[in-house]
Amino acid sequence: MIPLREAQDFVLEACATLSPHPVPIDEALGCVVATPVLATEPVPPFVNSSRDGYALRARDTEAAVDRQPVRLTVVGSIMAGSTLDAPIEVGQAARIMTGAPLPDGADAVCMLEDCADEAGGGVVVIGHPVTEGTAVRLVGEDVAAGDTVAAAGTVLTPGHIGVLANQGMDEVMVHPRPRVGVLSTGDELVSTSGPLAPGQIRDANRRVLLALVRREGWIPVDLGIVGDDEELLTTALEDAATACDVVITTGGVSVGDLDIVKVVLANQSGGTMRWMQVAIRPAKPFAFGVLDGSDTPVFGLPGNPVSAMVSFELLVRPAVRRRGGHRSLDRPVVSARAESDLRRRPDGKTHFVRALGSLDQHGVWRVCPVDGQDSHQLRAMADANALAILPDGDGVWAGGVVDLMLIDPDRISASTATPGAHRR
Ligand code: AMP
Ligand code: MG
Repeated sequence: MIPLREAQDFVLEACATLSPHPVPIDEALGCVVATPVLATEPVPPFVNSSRDGYALRARDTEAAVDRQPVRLTVVGSIMAGSTLDAPIEVGQAARIMTGAPLPDGADAVCMLEDCADEAGGGVVVIGHPVTEGTAVRLVGEDVAAGDTVAAAGTVLTPGHIGVLANQGMDEVMVHPRPRVGVLSTGDELVSTSGPLAPGQIRDANRRVLLALVRREGWIPVDLGIVGDDEELLTTALEDAATACDVVITTGGVSVGDLDIVKVVLANQSGGTMRWMQVAIRPAKPFAFGVLDGSDTPVFGLPGNPVSAMVSFELLVRPAVRRRGGHRSLDRPVVSARAESDLRRRPDGKTHFVRALGSLDQHGVWRVCPVDGQDSHQLRAMADANALAILPDGDGVWAGGVVDLMLIDPDRISASTATPGAHRR
């Protein structure tokens, strides 16, 4: 057996970051910026009002007091998207809406709430001095030309997409989303919804992995099911090498009679393939190599669905994130208090116990194992939002502290999680 870290390093070594590519900004959410993006245009592009009100000259309001308000002549009205042709002269004001350009001559805006109309809107009455610059947005206050709006390595959020749109950019240079092929192997597998013949099972892994790929924002490529047949598997992998940036197979990597995936992978990866016994439970067997004639890494995951998912989290996800240009590769790990015993026997392996983590009202993480820890028990895995990491040894008793890897970003602030609720 080899330590998990060694397997991870071996994999990462072979997973180079994909070359930068221009991508339409509407497709770039979650992608990693490859070259710094510099602003060419100031935002806001012109001086404008941040309120609905009256644009005026601050000096004209200096004398205003409640009992002796100042009256200004309203010379026009400016909506967002329009302009006023003539400048504001002494004693004048213009009605102005939020986002409309401040007219020449004006240097402040009095909010509608702070003034009154007179003479059917022909005059505005101001009862207090308005300071210069009030309710005025200056050019470049948000972004100045030359600013770096997205540094290399930035993971683009919806806000960044808007910042790029403000620059009039249609495309952005990012590391492309990896195209990840998913292939199930095994003579026992069927994908259809019809009745099962004796000995057959449904192919859960492909659906699980395609969903994980989608959740990561990568491009899923469904490579279907291939039986335990050397020739068919060879052809499938040859095709996958050109269609994908990463290939994930499940099944056929343990020590059984028909575990031909590792044989085919060995033939197809020009000696780079390594078949490993990783010192973890579940997901001990693991194969990895780079497909011939390409730089496409291929991951051979075990067939048991829970093992496949744990293997994905520990070995596939960090490596594919690196392909996509991410700098932070690993899931967050927090310290959590065990709500119940997390006991185990020493066996030289690190155990990844499927668990429900939740933050209590004091900000302390608490963890409870889900019921059903065998590697075929997918339902329990589906309930889990975390993996409790138990180093080799006897585990911890209730009340002890354990490292908890949070694997479900949608259920991280799981104050609603009710540990044990699924138990029968
Ligand atoms: P293997 O790694 O091929 O020896 O398979 C280990 C276990 O996982 C066996 O019980 C298989 O039937 C099961 N298995 C393999 N592939 C899948 C799959 N795609 N979906 C669900 N179970 C699978
Ligand atoms: Mg098999």
